[in-house]
Amino acid sequence: MARIFSGIQPSGELHIGNYLGAVRNWVALQGTVDAIYCIVDYHAIIAAYEPSQLRERRREMALGLLAAGIDPEQASLFVQSDVPEHTELAWIFNTVAPLGELERQTQFKDKSQRMESVNAGLLNYPILQAADILLYRADRVPVGEDQLQHLELSRVIARRWNAQFSPETNFFPEPEAWLTPTRRIMGLDGQSKMSKSTGNTIGLLESPEEIWAKLRPAVTDPKRIRKTDPGTPEVCNIYHLHKAFSAPAVVDHVAHQCSTAGWGCLDCKKVLAESMETELVPIRRRAEMLRATPEAVNDALATGAARCRTLARETMRGVRDRMGFD
Ligand code: ADP
Repeated sequence: MARIFSGIQPSGELHIGNYLGAVRNWVALQGTVDAIYCIVDYHAIIAAYEPSQLRERRREMALGLLAAGIDPEQASLFVQSDVPEHTELAWIFNTVAPLGELERQTQFKDKSQRMESVNAGLLNYPILQAADILLYRADRVPVGEDQLQHLELSRVIARRWNAQFSPETNFFPEPEAWLTPTRRIMGLDGQSKMSKSTGNTIGLLESPEEIWAKLRPAVTDPKRIRKTDPGTPEVCNIYHLHKAFSAPAVVDHVAHQCSTAGWGCLDCKKVLAESMETELVPIRRRAEMLRATPEAVNDALATGAARCRTLARETMRGVRDRMGFD
């Protein structure tokens, strides 16, 4: 059975960009592959944070993922810091990762420009990510488009390590991305990708009122100034969200109403809010149930961590053996 691995940072709320780009796919794939999903808390500490807030966010992320449909019977869900081998393998990969490629990573360049003082963790982030994936020798990684460059670096790291320590057998597979049709969701500002760090998100567990308060002023086709101006659906973020949440017949209708100026943007947003509700109501309901039974969240994480620790130790035995640490 193919093995997949994917991670998410507990650096803020689970949002619809995470859901559409990755988590909806995680749910669809569980049961068909050996699925391992990780809350990557060591990644999240690269930016300044409050320890008590990290604890809370880790829990909320676990709850959100289970509410979104991750089933602990079909997938292993765990917290990265519960399996210390992630950082052990990351150190080892530091010694084969090419510095020039780390410096060329778009996310490093973008984020370091916005920081007053840049820590080495920001540069080395993709090395820890490579360790996360390769610790489980995963074949595929269901992620959004923003992770493609990091994933390419994981492949380089696997290749370099294999060349040096396992030239005959290629101990580590070169993992490939598993993208969804909704691989890049833009933020409601229409300026940049939806991301926890930019505050342009819609939370997966937000109430209908909160969602509407964000959708109402959200950016649409910038050329559509008056209601009577015909719009261009393909350039509108709201249309792309329709493609993610609405039935195909509704998407066609939306495109027609927009391009003929039959609807104003607010009409279009109201229909989107309804489509989102259809998908989000059961998720919200599951979240409420999980809040009432916190032990269900703890049990899921404990079971996932126990299994992943066993797998991680096995990989590290192979790594230590090949590198002369045995
Ligand atoms: P964030 O940028 O919100 O902190 P993470 O880095 O924790 O998100 O990424 C978790 C997963 O969600 C990754 O697979 C990532 O590719 C995906 N993802 C994040 N933002 C988006 C987006 N705007 N569109 C599509 N996928 C996304």
